[in-house]
Amino acid sequence: MAKRTQKKSNRKYVFVVGGVMSGVGKGVASSSIAKILQSRGYEVTSVKIDPYVNVDAGTMNPTEHGEVFVLDDGMECDQDMGNYERFLNRDLSSTNYMTTGSIYQSVITKERNLEFEGKQVEVVPRIPLEVIARLDKAALKNKAEIVITEIGGTVGEYENILFLEAVRMLKLRKHDDVVLVLVSFVPALGAGGTELKTKPTQHAVRSLNAVGLHPDFILGRAHIPLDKKRKEKLEFMCSLEKGNVISAPNVDNIYDVPINFEKDELGNKILLKFGLKPKKINMADWRELSLAVKSARKEIKIGIVGKYFGSGDFMLADSYISVIEAVKHAAYSEKVKPVIEWLDSIEYERRPASVRELSKYNGIIVPGGFGERGVEGKIAAIKYCRENKIPYFGLCYGMQLAVVEFARHAAKLKNANTAEIDPKSPHPVIDIMPDQKKNLEAKNFGATMRLGAYPALLKKNTIAFSAYGSGKISERHRHRYEVNPQYIERLEKSGIIFSGASPDGKLMEIMELDRKTHPFFVGTQFHPEFKSRPLHPHPLFKEFIKASIHQKPAR
Ligand code: GLN
Repeated sequence: MAKRTQKKSNRKYVFVVGGVMSGVGKGVASSSIAKILQSRGYEVTSVKIDPYVNVDAGTMNPTEHGEVFVLDDGMECDQDMGNYERFLNRDLSSTNYMTTGSIYQSVITKERNLEFEGKQVEVVPRIPLEVIARLDKAALKNKAEIVITEIGGTVGEYENILFLEAVRMLKLRKHDDVVLVLVSFVPALGAGGTELKTKPTQHAVRSLNAVGLHPDFILGRAHIPLDKKRKEKLEFMCSLEKGNVISAPNVDNIYDVPINFEKDELGNKILLKFGLKPKKINMADWRELSLAVKSARKEIKIGIVGKYFGSGDFMLADSYISVIEAVKHAAYSEKVKPVIEWLDSIEYERRPASVRELSKYNGIIVPGGFGERGVEGKIAAIKYCRENKIPYFGLCYGMQLAVVEFARHAAKLKNANTAEIDPKSPHPVIDIMPDQKKNLEAKNFGATMRLGAYPALLKKNTIAFSAYGSGKISERHRHRYEVNPQYIERLEKSGIIFSGASPDGKLMEIMELDRKTHPFFVGTQFHPEFKSRPLHPHPLFKEFIKASIHQKPAR
């Protein structure tokens, strides 16, 4: 038998944790660290750890937790995964995401399968060991030399303590291969808001110390850049090596964050910490993008119609982050500046005439959604866009409701509806997919939708075909309902073009109206926004933006 030589792994691990408070851009910071290492020629991958008990993000309400992002393999995960994919321009997989729930679930499954050989299974070390094993699995799957892991929440919370314990255990084993980055909020006081306070960050470091960890770097998140004095104070008070406090000021464009980190040479400092040689960075295309964003002057107004029940813009931006980013990517590539506004569909139910405000926009999007609230308002908005030739892009629910609208008003199918809302509709033009019925009946909701990447074939001479420039595509899904096959012919006869369908021809993936009759009216059963990248805008978003540029909105 050949002798097995065990190659020592040189794998490096960067952990990103939060201090003081959450919501200060830890996800963008992690993505940016990954980006500046990748831009030095390293194979990197990004992992997100969420401390909640949910097994994945699929059952969470986006208005509370933010968007549910979907990966190619169907994993429903945190919105930060979308940032990683956008910054790294890589498709990630379920190995890159874990929650407390999923970790416990696998440890318990192993225990039930007698994999612990009769031993008592203790929380420590078993849970942290499972976390470490998952990180290595992610590295192997993505062929990564460096794994950048973001731990959700902030230090000092009960919830993420076992993940910090995983960092401690890994550091004990591979001291020189682990770098810990603390992203900490640095508040400002004083009349002009320029007096930056370092004390909360000092406390965050003490919390890390209490669990046996010490940061190698602190990223000071403040609304302005940290001055020399503040950096030196944090270095001194928190026992950091000189130069390892990095300024992370607010930015207008998140894609500027890696560029900012490089001003403090963060990339090479991390490499040095790992004992690796400094390397020249190649981020030319990224810098070009940053310039394009800054130089875009001509504004186009895009309205996103949804049920918003008076939530603040901040939460809305979080719930639809991939849609917003996809609009931005496409707009910047067309050298225009997008101005995105939230339009509450419930208003169009309360005051039907107010739907006329849509004529003030260059283009309208109805994004994905579930349930009954605000649906009639969305349908009214879609009707207005169709009749008044305003560029319209419907994403998933936005496509299904466009089919309902068309069925009611153009195909004259009275009371047509989606079975999600009216199961007794005489014309259920959108119906539950046959294999989804049992899930609803059994109340089996977790990870049971039609999820992830599926291929579709496109019809020639359509908007979709010319946008993609190819007849076969793959896009990500998250739905239970579909265009009812019994109505396809009837809808086509009345003018709907189903320009994309599953390879067996059964499931309608894209609907559009003839370009000769409407400048851009397209709906997708999938979520194109999940695959748009800053340097590779999604082809359908690009077409939508191009049509929107030509639209002359009313004043
Ligand atoms: N509620 C619809 C469905 O389940 C649409 C889902 C969505 O927009 N993601 O099919």
